Amino acid sequence: MKLRSYLLLANTISIAFIIILLLVFFQYMLVTREQLIWLGIATVGAGIVSALLFYLLVRPLEASVRRVSEGAARIAAGDLEARVENTGLTEFKLLADQFNTMGTNLEQSFRQVKTAEAAQRELVANMAHDLRTPLASMQSYAEALEDGVIQDEATYRRYVTTIRSETVRLSELIQDLFELSTLDAGARSREESQPAVVEDVLLELHPRFSLQLEAKELQLRVRLPDRSLRVNMLARHLQRVLQNLIENAVRYSPQEGIIVIAAEELEGELIRISVIDEGAGIAEAERERIFERFYRTDRSRSRQGGGAGIGLSIAKLLVEQYGGRIGVEQAEGQGSRFWFTVQEVKMVQ
Ligand code: ADP
Repeated sequence: MKLRSYLLLANTISIAFIIILLLVFFQYMLVTREQLIWLGIATVGAGIVSALLFYLLVRPLEASVRRVSEGAARIAAGDLEARVENTGLTEFKLLADQFNTMGTNLEQSFRQVKTAEAAQRELVANMAHDLRTPLASMQSYAEALEDGVIQDEATYRRYVTTIRSETVRLSELIQDLFELSTLDAGARSREESQPAVVEDVLLELHPRFSLQLEAKELQLRVRLPDRSLRVNMLARHLQRVLQNLIENAVRYSPQEGIIVIAAEELEGELIRISVIDEGAGIAEAERERIFERFYRTDRSRSRQGGGAGIGLSIAKLLVEQYGGRIGVEQAEGQGSRFWFTVQEVKMVQ
């Protein structure tokens, strides 16, 4: 039943009720015949006027309801941009506002789902690509060895070495992926956190880079405060963050470049550790994106032997798990300054 018919029916029922009452009064001689006629005419007249008023006043109400229902129908049909004009009676203005807020939220959630889906697809495509590249290279070298086309010892050794280094790359990639998934699942939160000593972590890391540093004739300079620096991070996590930053600094440094690792005190017992290189630096537009997983700048994508683009996202996840921040800025002169913050743990005297 329509709203208008409903109100008219209510009006007719109340008039009928008054007329029945008048007839009852007349029956028991409470009113005279003449009074009954006048009261009857007055009641019917008032009924007609109120029906007319109902009819007219209900129109803006109907229009408001129609606007909201049309908006809902458009949203139901998939048009998430549908909004309702908020005019008319106060209650309907409120309803329209709430409807529009719901539409905006719905649209935002839908967009987020779409973005997440696209990111997921990109992630799978990148993973497939990064796993396939070393596999394809190993396959072709192994086939060449199998065919027996290689005659000289040097080429044979080179092929075997390449296969070996590709297996290392593959297993590192799988390890990174594993680490990323366990970090996502928040596996650390249950572990007991023991403060790490920065200089110990650096000493442990140094041998891993010595060959690469030598090969590129790079200088590594470490600037730490005089006291022993303990920070609120598990040693293996600090090691992982520093390893990823130093690995990149070595990879993107020019021949004979200088890499500086420095720690400085900020306010509130916060320590900022920086890894500075003299490489080509990172364009401002890319400084946020390089911390996304699998993101590589075009320059490094075309470069041979680059990583898979996971290193910085692992570092970011780790640093943020301890409440720190990570970022990159242009180093003085040329190059990049990657930094992260971590809370210092002061020894109780
Ligand atoms: P990758 O394993 O490719 O190095 P990362 O997540 O560690 O992945 O780094 C993402 C991208 O950030 C790199 O591919 C590179 O383009 C850029 N990048 C990282 N570190 C540096 C650096 N020190 N100098 C220049 N570019 C860098």
